[in-house]
Amino acid sequence: MFDTLSDRLSGIFTKLRGKGRLSDADIDATAREIRLALLEADVALPVVKAFIANVKERARGAEVSQALNPAQQVIKIVHEELVAILGGEARRLQFAKQPPTVIMLAGLQGSGKTTLAGKLARWLKAQGHQPLLVAADLQRPNAVGQLQVLGGRAGVEVYAPEPGNGVGDPVRVARDSIEHAKRAARDIVIVDTAGRLGIDAEMMAQAASIRDAVQPDEVVFVIDAMVGQDAVTTAEAFRDGVGITGVVLSKLDGDARGGAALSVRHVTGQPILFASTGEKLEDFDVFHPDRMASRILG
Ligand code: GDP
Repeated sequence: MFDTLSDRLSGIFTKLRGKGRLSDADIDATAREIRLALLEADVALPVVKAFIANVKERARGAEVSQALNPAQQVIKIVHEELVAILGGEARRLQFAKQPPTVIMLAGLQGSGKTTLAGKLARWLKAQGHQPLLVAADLQRPNAVGQLQVLGGRAGVEVYAPEPGNGVGDPVRVARDSIEHAKRAARDIVIVDTAGRLGIDAEMMAQAASIRDAVQPDEVVFVIDAMVGQDAVTTAEAFRDGVGITGVVLSKLDGDARGGAALSVRHVTGQPILFASTGEKLEDFDVFHPDRMASRILG
């Protein structure tokens, strides 16, 4: 991901090498090229506008520096602005004062929610937690089976509807799972919910009902980083329909242009918590804005 954007940016910076002080015209030309590179990478227009305005303002105001030549100065500004649109500091998970902490996952079908549930459970278990996975995606055929396989691999218990008991009612499964977690002394409950291929009123209503039933400490919106401009509409719909508290970028290992990854923080106003980078349970890490910005700038 970001290969094209990285190449474009490095081409833009190369042109600045060897220049003395940058004129306003140099700064404007550079800003225009960066704007195009971001738009071609599918970054959402409002994000691009804010980004470019900041870069321009800072580049104009930049002091002549002994340590950095103009090209290095622009690179530094772009790096810092990339870190800013990615959220600044890494943000940790919010834990409940009274266990169990409830983490609800929401997102479109195929975004990588169920896979993420397994990854998160494995990661939390490795830190000494006792997570419980909850199969409240009763929409997608075999989402329950998939979660059971992942739970088995992670060595984490999966709470799933028993035949004849709450089958077809994800809200009830989710609510009952909290009671189960308390009885079984699980300190973290990860609730996988159903998504659909597109935004859908029924799906949002179900996610909102599950949220009300489990009172989550985190509502984590999982977004497939491979999607392009649609990412913005999807993110806004989940922000407004369910009320998200954090984001996970999945499929960052793909070769898409990366616009979703660069837009979602600005659009939702919520931090990116984790990054998913493959199909295996260990392809997962805390999201670091700074590392991602460095990766983009090569
Ligand atoms: P859900 O419908 O949101 O629960 O999505 P799934 O977890 O079933 O994931 C959909 C597909 O994407 C599956 O084939 C996963 O193996 C795959 N997948 C999930 N996360 C990643 C990731 O980070 N990278 C890659 N390459 N594939 C992923």
